Amino acid sequence: MNLLKPLIFAATGLMIIPACNNGDKAPEKERAVFSPENMDTTVAPGQNFYLYANGGWIENHPLPDDKSRFGAFDLLAEENREKVKTIIEEAAQSDAKAGSVAQQIGDLFASGMDTIAIEEAGLEPLADIFSLIETINDGETLIKATAALHQQQIYPFFYLYSSPDRKNSNLVIANFYQGGLGLPDRDYYFDQSERGEKLREAYKNYLTTLFVLKGETEESASEKTNNIMELETRMAEASNTRLENRDPQTTYNPTNLEELPDMADGFDWTLYFHEVGLPEPGKINVGQPKFMAQIAQMVDKVDPQTWQDYFSAVAMRSMAPYLTQDFVEASFEMYGRTLSGQPSMEPRWKRVLNTTSGALGEAVGQLYVEKYFPPEAKERMLDLVGNLKKSFAKRIDQLAWMSDSTKTQAHEKLNAIRVKIGYPDKWRDYSGLKVSADNYAGNVLMSNRFDFTYDLNKIGNPVDEEEWHMTPQTVNAYYSPLANEIVFPAAILQPPFFYPYGDDAVNYGAIGMVIGHEMTHGFDDKGRQYDKDGNMNDWWQPADADDFENRAQVLIDRFNHFTVLDSIKADGELTLGENIADLGGLNIAYQAYKMSIEGEKEPEMLDGFTDDQRFFLAYARVWAQNIRNEEILRRTKEDVHSLGKWRVNGPLPNMKAFVETFNIQPEQKMYLKPEKRASIW
Ligand SMILES: [Zn+2]
Repeated sequence: MNLLKPLIFAATGLMIIPACNNGDKAPEKERAVFSPENMDTTVAPGQNFYLYANGGWIENHPLPDDKSRFGAFDLLAEENREKVKTIIEEAAQSDAKAGSVAQQIGDLFASGMDTIAIEEAGLEPLADIFSLIETINDGETLIKATAALHQQQIYPFFYLYSSPDRKNSNLVIANFYQGGLGLPDRDYYFDQSERGEKLREAYKNYLTTLFVLKGETEESASEKTNNIMELETRMAEASNTRLENRDPQTTYNPTNLEELPDMADGFDWTLYFHEVGLPEPGKINVGQPKFMAQIAQMVDKVDPQTWQDYFSAVAMRSMAPYLTQDFVEASFEMYGRTLSGQPSMEPRWKRVLNTTSGALGEAVGQLYVEKYFPPEAKERMLDLVGNLKKSFAKRIDQLAWMSDSTKTQAHEKLNAIRVKIGYPDKWRDYSGLKVSADNYAGNVLMSNRFDFTYDLNKIGNPVDEEEWHMTPQTVNAYYSPLANEIVFPAAILQPPFFYPYGDDAVNYGAIGMVIGHEMTHGFDDKGRQYDKDGNMNDWWQPADADDFENRAQVLIDRFNHFTVLDSIKADGELTLGENIADLGGLNIAYQAYKMSIEGEKEPEMLDGFTDDQRFFLAYARVWAQNIRNEEILRRTKEDVHSLGKWRVNGPLPNMKAFVETFNIQPEQKMYLKPEKRASIW
């Protein structure tokens, strides 16, 4: 639930939905899937299919002030939040007994809405944390403070978390991952462009504001800020780039407590693990050894006062969204307004709802599925998944570029994919979590501690195959290479992904494509490095692997060529896995649809379109969106997914079926010569 925590786990989602990206008025629900007012029929499909399919939608859904991006996807997330709100209100109104799930949900939400209590408390909820930070005066006290803060999911330096071992995927081990920076990417510390300068300036203002709010003078606050900036810049220098972090091989560096100093000498790791509550960590994977070495070296080369200031800054920026209005505003100014260009904050109830739904995820989820998830949706999904698998298998058989022995392995991996739909069979128990009605920040810290302990307790144990890594009320889906599983939470099984009463062409183009997308992640540039059991293991014949890379290069080059804004281009390497998954998902879903109607009579025209046309229109509709310029730049730097427009116009011209369905002509922009088309799965 920690908002600053990056997506560091192995799962690959369909899309990252930012935590602060919502509006207060959900537009009216659409009825016909492809009514002309949501399209722009003055644009030729062959010139800009994204606009042809979505022009009207884009015009009819202007960006609200409290959003940096708003798309058909976000519209569903928005409607879904109304449902979650109902659940939380019902829990709050029930006369729940202390310690029950309803009491926890109701009180957590109430504490976040009680702005009088929040203002009165001021920084009091962080008092213990500040006292602890003040004890830092040498290496030992520094490490003790690091561990104590990590236990509350406040992360100076790095993250410690559990994850299956990449070479023994049945076992959960400890993992380190670089962290500790207040700007969301290491590159922001070195970007010499005007925007780069502006962001660093804004970040320094933010830190200074935090210290002034803590009671420092402007002068002292600004001095602390400069020291922290210098420190974080050194950490950023030693950090991997996002692209480097996509490589599962170089980020796998197993070691153990005894040998950890060989990698990162100068940090008392035994003390750290003891203090954090994991005295015998066993096998440890170090994601970024260069970074950890740098941190360890810095321990006694930085003066204690600067460490104290750095730790205070990390604690304040991590907790600011849950403190007084001054802190909330300062945090929004940095991470919402400046980084994403969002003019105003979303209403408090939505922010508090996110916190509640995050902290008590499966408790809220259980109530959510009881009330909103129809069992028929699960049945229909199982059917779709079965058909998608058959289609994928057939496509593997037909691949001219792949040898038989690699094909055999690919089939095995495809067959072994585990499928989860709707909600977990076994729910998480929150009974140990204490929640009070009048201490919002205190509740967040308690919940952080509860989650950290829960996570740490998995280390050294076998993987729990029944566990989910997304809650049922999340509008998203994921593939986990380490579990070789695809997961579709209940909340994504609604329009524009899943139309309960929609025809098959539409559902294959939308949710069918999502299923294909997630399956393809098992076979993208990263996923293909894992075998059917989720172990990092090369099952490819060398010639096939070379061929794969050449084919992937076609997509990299294509996306590198797209202009996202002014002179800024898309990043074809960073988004490669997602682009492979989009194109593969489309191919697999389209073929699955064709297989499903084999031998049946020709489907009728609906909404004025043929079934093939509806398939592609349904796909395009998922990505209809408005987005601010700042958000375009931020996502181009940070997001592994391409922007909505390019998720449509990027992959489609590679598909013969698309070119034929809309009769795309060689002189049109959406046309690619057959020899230039990317073809992988
Ligand atoms: Zn994806």
